[in-house]
Amino acid sequence: MKCPKCENSQKYIYGMTCLNCKYEFVLNPKTSGSSDYRFNKVVQVVSEEGTKYYTFNQFYNVYANYKGPLVMILLFLLSLVFVALAAAGIIEWSLGIVGAVGSGIFALTKTPEPIPTKSSVLNNFTAYKAANGLPFHLDKPQMQTAPNDFSAATMIEHGTEGIVFVDQDIYVDLFIKNKIHQDLKSIVVAQSGYPKYLTIPIAEMYEKHPNIKVYMLHDSNTDTHKMREKIKVWLNNSNVEIIDLGMSPDAKTNIKVFKKYKKDEAVYVDYLRPNTLSETLTSAVMTGIAMDLAYQSIYGQSRGFIDDFG
Ligand SMILES: [Zn+2]
Repeated sequence: MKCPKCENSQKYIYGMTCLNCKYEFVLNPKTSGSSDYRFNKVVQVVSEEGTKYYTFNQFYNVYANYKGPLVMILLFLLSLVFVALAAAGIIEWSLGIVGAVGSGIFALTKTPEPIPTKSSVLNNFTAYKAANGLPFHLDKPQMQTAPNDFSAATMIEHGTEGIVFVDQDIYVDLFIKNKIHQDLKSIVVAQSGYPKYLTIPIAEMYEKHPNIKVYMLHDSNTDTHKMREKIKVWLNNSNVEIIDLGMSPDAKTNIKVFKKYKKDEAVYVDYLRPNTLSETLTSAVMTGIAMDLAYQSIYGQSRGFIDDFG
């Protein structure tokens, strides 16, 4: 077991307390199938080193893409073996190079283990969070009341160019906490009408400024017809033009990192980690295309394995 705090490695038989720094391990590698070290690394990546808020889905997607260092080291050593064999004249140089390059490419694409199920990761996550706090994790929607400086009348004067309707309440928190709504110059509300303090003002705002753009953003399995109907009700206008930026049903094909998920599983808006989400949506809003297509146009089909965390 490797200690996330001091990087000291110790054997499981020496107990769940780091002998070096007294860190208390939470995840027993024998029973949890994971480790404190891996959890700590994933938290660092998904929170952009403790500067961004994230949901469990975002954590999960990074976790599922995490490639342990061991397999990389082994494959790197394997490539050295090929070079050494060739240098010693035991195999042809051509074979040595093919072997070395082959193991290198394999190392970059290799997923060391099958995709862990969401429920197993959630169990470990809950235990890890109970011990470590995880202040940047967004658990449930918490924007029920308006901020102190909120003024409906000045909303439009703040350069608001659009209204983004999202299918899940928690996305509102995710966007506002990470200031993604500012990047999009938009107000973010959920199709449920959450947060309540916004729904009446936006209907008035839309009536006064009918040129404001209206977007919808959703997971790949959301009923978009129902969502459109709800938006029309909230804006009190049955003719409103709604630009769909949501994950398309083909999102799994369009974004390589999602291909590993089961066919019938949805692709969630919050599978993209905070900075990637912001960049992708900024582009989607500008071009008016689905976010998986926007992602593809920015990052291409295949990103490097580090970026492939999503
Ligand atoms: Zn330690």
